[in-house]
Amino acid sequence: MDLDATLETGHPTVLWHRLADGRVQCDVCPRECRLHEGQRGFCFVRGRWRDAVVLATYGRSSGFCVDPIEKKPLNHFLPGTPVLSFGTAGCNLGCRFCQNWDISRSRAVDTLADAASPQDVAEAAVRLGCRSVAFTYNDPVVFLEYAVDVAIACRERGVRAVAVTAGYVNPAARDALVPHMDAANVDLKAFTEGFYRDVCLGRLGPVLDTLEHLVHETQVWVELTTLVIPGLNDADDELDAMTRWVVEHLGPDVPMHFTAFHPDWKMTDRAPTPPASLARARAIALRNGVRFAYTGNVHDVAGQSTWCHACGTRLIERDGYALGAWRLTPDGRCGGCGASIAGVFEAAPGGWGSRRLPVRIGAT
Ligand code: SF4
Repeated sequence: MDLDATLETGHPTVLWHRLADGRVQCDVCPRECRLHEGQRGFCFVRGRWRDAVVLATYGRSSGFCVDPIEKKPLNHFLPGTPVLSFGTAGCNLGCRFCQNWDISRSRAVDTLADAASPQDVAEAAVRLGCRSVAFTYNDPVVFLEYAVDVAIACRERGVRAVAVTAGYVNPAARDALVPHMDAANVDLKAFTEGFYRDVCLGRLGPVLDTLEHLVHETQVWVELTTLVIPGLNDADDELDAMTRWVVEHLGPDVPMHFTAFHPDWKMTDRAPTPPASLARARAIALRNGVRFAYTGNVHDVAGQSTWCHACGTRLIERDGYALGAWRLTPDGRCGGCGASIAGVFEAAPGGWGSRRLPVRIGAT
């Protein structure tokens, strides 16, 4: 079935306004799509139907999976615990290197196999022993009404909410989404406007605004991810400027993840990221004052473990998504020197391990 059929049953939205020329403008993200009747926005899942903007994917998922929270990646938020992860379809950026393009650029409902109400999702999270639910695989900005309702239902049952997002969002939509989130991993895809414009069809400025807002004006726990792409965003100068900005504007306690690219979507002409590039990015971050910098998508126990910024004690050993030795005190301090470690920690780590468990919930 084509998504064209689903505007008719779309969920009402409020973040739009009418223009003098008869079009309506979606106000969710900086793309600010201006729509004629029956037309869809860039993300393809929000469109104009009967003179209003509707969300076509409310209550529809591309599939559910119980993941380790480290896979989001979040290394300082309830380490070792399982998170019920899902996405819908569509995205408001057009990254040529997209690693989830089958979902993010999907235009067909056949990828939206699972119909699940917010209550269904929350009940499944509890039943499966998940401590949190994650909006991931595609950006919750484009399905924010569904994400908010799921987060509310989850929080009522003691399950926390995690957004995995590019942070490409307008302030009004951000303010609708963020108060319902407990943690976020935000992509900082590069540190030049040229990269965002040419490779992602977006802009860097709104992403930096989102980051400053999240860190300084909310209680959301924030970590950053940069997919390091050979020859595009891996220059020393750019990584230096990015990590300096992070320390200066967000502070030293926001963890940064530098993850490996693999050729995908419209970018199959580049080699996978060499592990040495990730190690170099991590070293630059640490040198500039980032206290917690990680490598990802490669085997690197040292680069994925958490180390005390004050005394160098290894606090959380990681091999991939599996946790090893744990030297945090029950109140989140270094077991070696007592330094306070930023994050959301409990007295003991979770025991989920590195498993991924696909699950079906709700109606199919
Ligand atoms: S959320 Fe979608 S429809 Fe709305 S402005 Fe962004 S890309 Fe356009």
